[in-house]
Amino acid sequence: MSTPAILTVDDDPNVSRAVARDLRRHYGENYRVVRASSGAEALDALRELKLRGQQVAVLLADYRMPQMNGIQFLESAMDLYPRARRVLLTAYADTDAAINAINLVDLDHYLLKPWNPPEEHLYPVVDDLLQSWLATPDAATAELRVVGHRWSAHSYKVRDFLARNLVPFRWYVADDPEGARLLAAAGLTADDVPLVVTAEGKTLVQPNEAELAGNIGLTTTPASDFYDVIVVGAGPAGLGSAVYAASEGLRTVLVERRATGGQAGQSSRIENYLGFPDGVSGAQLTERARRQALKFGAELLSAREVTALETCGSARVVHFADGSRIAAHSVVLATGVSYRMLDVPGCADLTGRGVFYGSAATEAPGCKDEEVYIVGGANSAGQAAVYFSRYARHVHMLIRGDDLRRSMSRYLIDQIEAIDNITVHPHTQVCAGGGSEHLEHITLLDTNTGVERTVDASWLFIFIGAEPGTGWLDGVVARDEHGFVLTGPDLLSGGKRPAGWPLSRDPYHLESSVPGVFAAGDVRSDSVKRVASAVGEGAMAISLVHRYLEGQ
Ligand SMILES: Cc1cc2nc3c(=O)[nH]c(=O)nc-3n(C[C@H](O)[C@H](O)[C@H](O)COP(=O)(O)OP(=O)(O)OC[C@H]3O[C@@H](n4cnc5c(N)ncnc54)[C@H](O)[C@@H]3O)c2cc1C
Repeated sequence: MSTPAILTVDDDPNVSRAVARDLRRHYGENYRVVRASSGAEALDALRELKLRGQQVAVLLADYRMPQMNGIQFLESAMDLYPRARRVLLTAYADTDAAINAINLVDLDHYLLKPWNPPEEHLYPVVDDLLQSWLATPDAATAELRVVGHRWSAHSYKVRDFLARNLVPFRWYVADDPEGARLLAAAGLTADDVPLVVTAEGKTLVQPNEAELAGNIGLTTTPASDFYDVIVVGAGPAGLGSAVYAASEGLRTVLVERRATGGQAGQSSRIENYLGFPDGVSGAQLTERARRQALKFGAELLSAREVTALETCGSARVVHFADGSRIAAHSVVLATGVSYRMLDVPGCADLTGRGVFYGSAATEAPGCKDEEVYIVGGANSAGQAAVYFSRYARHVHMLIRGDDLRRSMSRYLIDQIEAIDNITVHPHTQVCAGGGSEHLEHITLLDTNTGVERTVDASWLFIFIGAEPGTGWLDGVVARDEHGFVLTGPDLLSGGKRPAGWPLSRDPYHLESSVPGVFAAGDVRSDSVKRVASAVGEGAMAISLVHRYLEGQ
């Protein structure tokens, strides 16, 4: 933990030096003594300390200072450090002002100048103040802090990005006292959120994901412009590919647009992955896989979206959203799937403000004692229901079918049946939603009876269908009618190789219609949508990359 500060401000350089010297001599071991020569300078120092997440124990301000006197300074300082103990240094003639300040700025003490010897006049006072401050200090927060609005989509995006990248942070609502103090320290207002304050005290105002990534230690720029293999997407398939490729000596770069782990990273508990009899959270599995890939020397680029793929002779060129590009001998497409948007009136505008896609675990504490609605009946929805049931008053699962049996694993159905505060609503669809600042109500349609009813709802988590989002491969890589990448035997129609296929052999099993470009995991046509199969395909793609490179 960082050393708390004692700040002293006096416009007379001799007095200022003397106070700081005496304080350092006695408290220097456990406190950092910060000295300023005006109220404005002292406030700047306090703002910086605030943004760095550091504690301030005691403020000693001279009363008579030009521009801003000691009382005015202490008053402003209270907005940043309300718990710091406040001392006014006064001459005998100013005693009245000091006494008045006791009420005005809740002064803890006034100290007559000169205070010599300090052992008699200064240290006993400061010792007492430190003792009382230590009983209720401000929390030191040498960590990332986010100030935002509860119902702001941008604030949610920032929190979700940090959480999914396993970056610990502290969350403050703009109008709670510490949130307001951080905004004040950064010279901002509640209209400017989200504000991110890094552990070093750097402020990022309404940052995008690339900016965030660059400031929280994630790598966003490639170290090279040419690799043996570029893996696009860092879900289980991409991580699997990266681990195997790097461990086998291939120069490997793994590119991820949001957060490592993909869909699996959002899972509260994966219970059917081999080797984890008690289950494993998506976050844990992801973190281990990420470390494993890095250990073997794979490079991991975060917050980088791939937007195009191009063939230049034997090189495969990958384009990023910002126009830059990297190339490789081979590419593994492991871009998985994303949830389909709920296309009903009133919901689109409320995404991130009560309507969430996927489990949005960061929101769970906010659902405490509230009603939560989950749309979907597959395993992912089931896991979310179990997870949210620990927080919410009640969880409602809205499913199209009669029951969960056709869409969910037995072990999850058993768990759900045993939880009192989960209700499954069969043949029920959301047909509308609405709210002004955030989601306030949804309309439910019973598809058997055609009856609609509108219920109050602030939390709607959607787990419907999945789309591969492969539009950027148009005209380059062959896909099926739903956009999933066709590979291997699926590319052969009536025994004929795909149009434009240049080689005298058939595509390898996970190879796409472009030689040297492979697909693994959920993005592949007809793949099994599971963590284990995605990891397995990721590994298998690399053995085929070796075969491809040998044939070059
Ligand atoms: C909540 C939840 C719970 C689940 N629970 C289980 C379970 O218990 N057991 C189980 O076996 N399966 C489970 N699944 C399914 C499993 O997670 C998926 O089958 C698996 O994650 C697929 O892995 P993938 O790597 O193919 O794709 P994904 O996990 O979808 O990862 C793809 C990655 O590619 C990135 N990406 C996409 N496009 C681009 C681009 N253009 N540029 C850069 N990056 C891009 C995405 O951001 C994403 O991180 C669950 C899924 C969810 C959503």
